[in-house]
Amino acid sequence: MIPPAGFDAVLSASPPDFDEPAILDIAARTFGVHPASARDLGSERDQTFLLIDAADAPMAVMKLSNAAEDPATLDMEALAVLHATRVDPELPLALPRRAGDGEPERGPTGRPVDATDPAAFRASFLHADGAHHVRLYDVLPGRQRVDPATLDDAALVAWGATSARLGRALRGFFHPAAQRTMLWDVQHAGRTRSMVHAVRDPRRRALVERVLDRYDEVVAPAWPSLRAQIVHGDLTTDNALTDERGRISGIVDFGDMSHSALIIDIASVLDSLLNDRSADDVFRVARLVLDGYQRITPLEPLELRLLGEVVAARAAVTIAISSWRADRGLEDGTFAERYNEAVERTIITLLDAGWDRVAHELGASWPGGGTRSDHSGLAARRTRVMGPALEPLTYERPIHLASAQGVWMTDVDGRRYLDAYNNVPCVGHGHPRVTEAISRQSRELNTNMRYLHAGAIELAERLVTTCPPGLDTVFLVNSGSEANDLAWRLATAFTGRRGGLCTQHAYHGISDAMAALSPETWPGGSQPDHVETWPVPDRARGDHRDAGSFEAALERLRDRGFALAATILDGVLTSDGYPTLPAGLAEAWLAATQAAGGLWIADEVQGGHGRTGEAMWSFQTAGITPDIVTLGKPMGNGHPVGAVITRHEIARRFADETVFFSTFGGNPVSVAASLAVLDVLEDERVLERTLVAGAMLRDAIRDLAGGQPAILDVRGLGLAIGVEFADATIASAVKEGLRERGVLVGTSGRLGTVLKVRPPLAFSAAEVPIFATALEATLSSISDRRRRPRSGTG
Ligand code: PMP
Repeated sequence: MIPPAGFDAVLSASPPDFDEPAILDIAARTFGVHPASARDLGSERDQTFLLIDAADAPMAVMKLSNAAEDPATLDMEALAVLHATRVDPELPLALPRRAGDGEPERGPTGRPVDATDPAAFRASFLHADGAHHVRLYDVLPGRQRVDPATLDDAALVAWGATSARLGRALRGFFHPAAQRTMLWDVQHAGRTRSMVHAVRDPRRRALVERVLDRYDEVVAPAWPSLRAQIVHGDLTTDNALTDERGRISGIVDFGDMSHSALIIDIASVLDSLLNDRSADDVFRVARLVLDGYQRITPLEPLELRLLGEVVAARAAVTIAISSWRADRGLEDGTFAERYNEAVERTIITLLDAGWDRVAHELGASWPGGGTRSDHSGLAARRTRVMGPALEPLTYERPIHLASAQGVWMTDVDGRRYLDAYNNVPCVGHGHPRVTEAISRQSRELNTNMRYLHAGAIELAERLVTTCPPGLDTVFLVNSGSEANDLAWRLATAFTGRRGGLCTQHAYHGISDAMAALSPETWPGGSQPDHVETWPVPDRARGDHRDAGSFEAALERLRDRGFALAATILDGVLTSDGYPTLPAGLAEAWLAATQAAGGLWIADEVQGGHGRTGEAMWSFQTAGITPDIVTLGKPMGNGHPVGAVITRHEIARRFADETVFFSTFGGNPVSVAASLAVLDVLEDERVLERTLVAGAMLRDAIRDLAGGQPAILDVRGLGLAIGVEFADATIASAVKEGLRERGVLVGTSGRLGTVLKVRPPLAFSAAEVPIFATALEATLSSISDRRRRPRSGTG
């Protein structure tokens, strides 16, 4: 039989075959130790013995290498162990002893010191088949070859953690001998094809071939993208000693080390621990092991995606190599093939599940974010389980999104959309500063304001610095609704009154108090007694351009017996269709509010965090100073968080009546997201960019509006842009048309006539032409349609 070419010769050599007297003699000659007996521990390629003294106590482990072994590989092993021990002194690694004196290498703290000459850790002697190297290692406590089926859940998690620690401890290690073609390393799985013929059972052979086919097709092309380093690569029950609770108490064999993908470490653990687990327990076991691993080293999406296939490939490689070695008589068949039945079962379980499900079970997201294109099925489930009160899906053909980056969103079918609608991801979808802050903090600590945590305090202090003097007290909550609800409680507590004023089509949230101040969602349009609304200015029609309508609303409230507690205003008037405020109007509203003894609540859920480009908060753009400021939506770039900023005296009055605590308000993860957003706003000079991009976008829309009588007005501040159409049908048709052309916008305004263009603030000058081209095509297709006479009868 021709040996497969191009891999480490050790695999095609027989293990050495020294008997006990020879071993005792070698121990004395090479390391100067004199054991009374030696017990064979079993090995694929080498001979490994436990040396035992006259009192029957273990002295050391002696490894006698195959004559084909490259001494550079052995040096690498010694250096790797020393390196890993320096990084993580608690890792249970067997330390090599110096040849000649047999003494362990110890530093002043009892830990090993750096070995400048790794050859000092081996001794060699000549034999008929060539030179053999001998190494001596400390004896570690623990049992050999634990039965993986006996490991409890905590032990499974601990195995994963130890594997990650080992990988982490080797992360900074390098040795040229690591560039080797060690067939057990799954990156060379393709090379074991030439061994597959030695698998006697045709069914088993076919399984191995199926896995190797999949490997070639999917794993091999992706391999160069996987994180790589020198890895142990073989943390199986063969190479780990365990304590009485099944935890790893010793990692004993670095013989399969190579420079390879990081995940082959955890794949080796899984390959070993999944043995003899029933099919319905395999994924649960795997996930527990991965929990332990990812507590230390979170896996990347591609790693999670491929891990199942790598485990299967390792199982296939196990069968191929062991069958081939047994077939060639290099090893005893029973010993070599002892795992094949179990790993075959693992392969069958994984193949039966299907690779997408395997990846998902191990934690990867479904490819493309879910079931492809099953829009109607999902929509029906949504309605069934979430009921009729939930706002309907946007668009006649709903969008099923899978991912988003910056200003681009991608649906499950891979179609990309320019996001000109979502203000929540203000610094861009998936901004790394925010996503990393969230994941880092959630790994580190997430708790509440009953304990000291610097982040929440820093956030509050930073928010205060963005506000005019006097706004010095911050409450952290979880949403815009909650922020407004708390603002309302502060206002009513402070004034002792109950009347509220909001704009005619305002939206301020979902709580009872906020629903009352949200005419956009009033049931059947019926107005609560304690609330009055005032109409916003209409530039196109010239209405409500002074404070008269506001004062009239105040009057109506008074007439109904309600003194004003607060006026609440979204500074960019989103739900009212982004009307332009004539200069001085907001000041006049504020003055009237103050004259009536009410407080002013600036709802910055829409207009804050730089939306206007002119200032951090839209009340600053309007030139007024509120009593209470509320924040939400963009504050965490998609992470749920909100805040209320007010004056100390207002908080004081509230404190006299009650106490404030919100379980999630001020939690370190939300705080980390919020701080990251503030940082990015500064670092990327987002406000300046918003001013430029907003002006360009408005100009581009105005250029197109020139020839379009249906467009009455193009307006807005920064990247809060309203395009008013003659009627709601056209506005809605434009929204749908833009969607078909890959651009997302919304509609707003009391009559639904305003196109709401409100992209993430990551929207830049570069996207303006893309938006304009889509809008132009949409407008011309709509005007074509309106010009074309209808045909037929239906
Ligand atoms: N205020 C305004 C101006 C809003 O637009 C919204 C949400 N659309 C809210 C408050 C409520 O915020 P949330 O949905 O986070 O409760």
